[in-house]
Amino acid sequence: MKLSYLPYPLELKHRFGVSGHTRTSTPDVLVCIEHEGVKGYGEASMPPYLGESIESVSSFLGNVNLGQFNDPLLLEDILDYTDSLMPGNCAAKAAIDIALHDLAGKLLGIPCYRLFGLNPHKAPATTYTIGIDEPSVMQQKIKEVEGQFRLLKIKLGTDRDDEIIKAVREVTSLPLAVDANQGWKDVGEASERISMLAENNVVMIEQPMKKDRLDDIARLRELSPVPLYADESVQRAEDIYRLKGVFDGINIKLMKCTGMREAWKMINIARSMGMKTMLGCMTETSCAVTAAAQLSPAVGFADLDGNLLIGNDPFEGVKVEEGMLRLNNLPGLGLRHNTNLCF
Ligand code: MG
Repeated sequence: MKLSYLPYPLELKHRFGVSGHTRTSTPDVLVCIEHEGVKGYGEASMPPYLGESIESVSSFLGNVNLGQFNDPLLLEDILDYTDSLMPGNCAAKAAIDIALHDLAGKLLGIPCYRLFGLNPHKAPATTYTIGIDEPSVMQQKIKEVEGQFRLLKIKLGTDRDDEIIKAVREVTSLPLAVDANQGWKDVGEASERISMLAENNVVMIEQPMKKDRLDDIARLRELSPVPLYADESVQRAEDIYRLKGVFDGINIKLMKCTGMREAWKMINIARSMGMKTMLGCMTETSCAVTAAAQLSPAVGFADLDGNLLIGNDPFEGVKVEEGMLRLNNLPGLGLRHNTNLCF
């Protein structure tokens, strides 16, 4: 097997604001694993808060020796090896995991969802994310996608949350997911905001407070009429066990957790603990978004819109139809290139 990679910075269609910072581009590296003329594609997307960069991903990938493996279907062996090379580097590891699943599906002639025994017709609805901005700009972004989604995700965690929700409700009656991105300072403030949100048809709230304040979040959960999901508080499978009783559910993202193999484990661990699951993403191309979508029939709902937020997506894969994720039946991830990738 041969590994190659290509830095591919993503251009965002709109500047993207979350509690704490705003950006207009995301560093990204595309990966290709080739075996006997068949190519699998993967991707590492690196939002600043995860601490990876084009340099760190390139350095990690430069140390990976896939030439020692002759059978690409030995995913457990290969991915145990890449995971053991260095700690961290989760996005870089995810890029290899995604490319390997794409390759395995292509070699077997089946879509990746079939590797996991999943029914593509059970793929859930996806939210569309509205980043923090001036309320009038957020209203405009909502109008641009009118009729295309069944659920919108609103980024909050600012001192203008009430004003933002009021503005959002002037232009849409869709149910809302809210992501506070750790922005509320204490149980008092968070609980006050949640009461206001509950009256505005908010159906879930992601990461209300700082990721390590688990005792406070557990107290908040007792007061909250809306289910709370962990995002920043959960990265890999081992993190889930301490979240029982703290959150109602977890947001699983391939770039945080090292890819599809670990995401599948997390879905099953959370389910076995009676917790809800969702799949999320970073701003990333249709490659990684489609990889996450392959697992989506196993989760309650998805926030897989990262590909829709960028202007230079080189792939086509999963589609959104009437707000629902629609997977095709092509082998592997089912990607098509829509530009000339040089590998
Ligand atoms: Mg989040």
